[in-house]
Amino acid sequence: MSARKSAASTTQPKAASKAQPRSGTGRSGTKKAETHLGLVRRARRMNRTLKVAFPHVYCELDFTTPLELSVATILSAQCTDVRVNQTTPAVFARYRTALDYAQADRTELEELIRPTGFYRNKTNSLIGLGQALVERFDGEVPHTLPELVTLPGFGRKTANVVLGNAFGVPGITVDTHFGRLVRRWEWTEETDPVKVEHAVGELIERKEWTDLSHRVIFHGRRVCHARNPACGVCILAKDCPSAGTGPMDKTAAAALVKGPETDHLLALAGITS
Ligand code: SF4
Repeated sequence: MSARKSAASTTQPKAASKAQPRSGTGRSGTKKAETHLGLVRRARRMNRTLKVAFPHVYCELDFTTPLELSVATILSAQCTDVRVNQTTPAVFARYRTALDYAQADRTELEELIRPTGFYRNKTNSLIGLGQALVERFDGEVPHTLPELVTLPGFGRKTANVVLGNAFGVPGITVDTHFGRLVRRWEWTEETDPVKVEHAVGELIERKEWTDLSHRVIFHGRRVCHARNPACGVCILAKDCPSAGTGPMDKTAAAALVKGPETDHLLALAGITS
């Protein structure tokens, strides 16, 4: 089961300076300038629409403690969440504390996590994580961004996943889905994940950041695919400057929708099974 822990009081870095006015596509199909205020309103409207599409979002990695989520997130690099969730029960049963990871037998840990790929590097990260937690944080996972990013195996993305889902601290997780979608939506033109995080943080209310991240990633996995997005049945189409990137025909688009919310998403598009 996925789980969430109680809130903590860590703050995120401040957002970057305001985005520049950009052009957007109006209903008439002609390009018109979009003011910063217009962009904020459109982005927040799209977030509200995503709430309708995905009313129940959650971290798709299974965990019960911040340490387990840290380990699962490190293992998820270049690996599907499904594969990670198949692998972690045996890992979590064998290694229960930071000290267990610090003292792990390398060969044994490598074998356990081998299905997730890059297992030698990931073993280095997990042993290093355990050692760092024991040496610097009394064996506990810290709950501030500056501390988390000092840990082996932790980048800013991993830190934000742990902050948002294990500690309840709002965080924006910029993975490949998130970056692709917010650029398609012209929320930002940035490609650097940290700049994307700051640009989106400026548009969307802070308390929404963690769930927004889940909603956008859900939408990227189920509807707005990198190739062939299901534009014809997409609930965001009227606010999306990239509508038409994928098929607008409803039948063709419906066949592209994936995941457990498919019936709900197609019903929102007026298609009933
Ligand atoms: S309309 Fe198409 S490009 Fe835009 S969000 Fe929906 S699926 Fe993605």
